[in-house]
Amino acid sequence: MIGDGISLGDVVRTRKGHPCGGDTWTVIRVGADIKIRCTTCGRIVMMDRETFLKRRKATVSHAQQPDEQQKGEMRNE
Ligand SMILES: [Zn+2]
Repeated sequence: MIGDGISLGDVVRTRKGHPCGGDTWTVIRVGADIKIRCTTCGRIVMMDRETFLKRRKATVSHAQQPDEQQKGEMRNE
């Protein structure tokens, strides 16, 4: 995790809902820009990381992180 807690597949709630009435979004791209898809109408919105963090109110569910297990197994020999 990079520190701001954005992971691909996360479902987030924004402060301001979408005009369609939904207010939850799935993160479908994480990079210099963040792409989120409205879980209600399927519309995709792209914004920069800073804007996304300002709009995000809560993370509803975190994506499954298969690399969590690998971290536990990491060790120095
Ligand atoms: Zn929508």
